[in-house]
Amino acid sequence: MDEKKAIVFDIGRYRHTDGPGIRTIIFFKGCPLRCKWCSNPFGLSPKLQLSVNPERCLGCGRCVLLCEREVNSLLEAKVQVDFSKCTHCFACIPSCLGQNRAITGKAYTARELFEEAYKDLAFYRKQGGGVTLSGGEALMQPDVAIELLRLCRSNYLNTCLETSAYTSWDILQEAARYCHTVFVDLKHMNPQTHRELTGVGNERILENIVQLCQWAPERGCRVILRIPIIPGYNDEEENLIRAAQFIRRLKGNPEVNLLPYHNLGEQKYPMIGREYEPDIPAMLQNQDSVMQRSKRILEGHVAENRVSLGGDSIALTGRGTR
Ligand code: SF4
Ligand code: SF4
Repeated sequence: MDEKKAIVFDIGRYRHTDGPGIRTIIFFKGCPLRCKWCSNPFGLSPKLQLSVNPERCLGCGRCVLLCEREVNSLLEAKVQVDFSKCTHCFACIPSCLGQNRAITGKAYTARELFEEAYKDLAFYRKQGGGVTLSGGEALMQPDVAIELLRLCRSNYLNTCLETSAYTSWDILQEAARYCHTVFVDLKHMNPQTHRELTGVGNERILENIVQLCQWAPERGCRVILRIPIIPGYNDEEENLIRAAQFIRRLKGNPEVNLLPYHNLGEQKYPMIGREYEPDIPAMLQNQDSVMQRSKRILEGHVAENRVSLGGDSIALTGRGTR
C-alpha cells in the first residue's frame, strides 16, 4: 500500500522563531480557519494550486493562447488571471517566459519530510533547535503530521507544533505526545466575534486548551498560548482581560506569548486570486505601545513573568530538549 502523503507549501530552514535554537519549519497546506489577518494565504487551501506573480510578467501572451479555459488575459502587457475559472491543471507553467507561474504545494510522506529536516542536523546540534510543524494547520493532515513528529522525536530532535487546536482532542493529544512544545493561538474570547474573525467558533479550541494544559505538564510537554495582537480586531481591553482570566484558571501555569501584527503575507494574496482585507498600516507607528499596553493588561491577571512579547518567548531560552 502507498504511504500517505501530505501537501506542504514551504520548508523554511535556519529559522530562529517558533521554538528553541535554529529550526526547520514545515508549513502544511490546508487550514479550517480563515483569519482575516492570515499571513500565510498559501496555507489556506489543502490542495495544490496555481500561483502567479504578475509583477514578473513579460507580456508574452503564451498563457493566454495555451489555456483553453480563458483564465488569462493581457492588459497593458501584464497578465490578468481569473482564478475562478482555473482548474489548476498547471499546463501553463512550463511555457511562461517570465517564469512567474508555479505550483504552490508539494506532496511528501512523513519519512520524506523527516529526511528533509534531518539535513539540518548539524545546525540543531550546534545551537540547539529542531523541527516545527506549522501551516496552515498541520493537524488537518494528521497521519503524516503525527508520524513526522514521532520520527523526529525518536531521533532525538526537538519538536514543536504550532496549531489552532481546531481539531479533535484525540488528534491533538496524539500529536502533543511527541512534542516538546505546543503553541496554541488564542485569537478572540467571544465565540461570535471569533466566528466573524476566523470563520469558526472558539468553543472547541478553548476545550482543547483546557484539556491540553491538564495533560501536558506531567508529560514534559510545554504549552505556550499565543495571542496575535491585531489592532482593532482583538486588542480591546475586555477581550484581553477575558483571555487572562481564562489562562489563569488553566492547569500548569502556561506561558503567554503576544505576537505583533504584521502584513508580510499581503502581497501573496493576489498571487492566488484572494483579497487581503485588513486595513491596518504595515508598520504601526505605535506598535511598541500597543504591545506594551496589551502585556500590562495580561500581566494584571496572570502569574508574574509568564507573559512575553514577540516570537522570543521566555520559555524558549530553556532549549526544550529532554
Ligand atoms: S493552471 Fe490550467 S486552467 Fe489554470 S491558468 Fe494554467 S492552464 Fe489555465
Ligand atoms: S506566459 Fe508568463 S510571462 Fe507570458 S503573459 Fe503569461 S504570465 Fe506573462
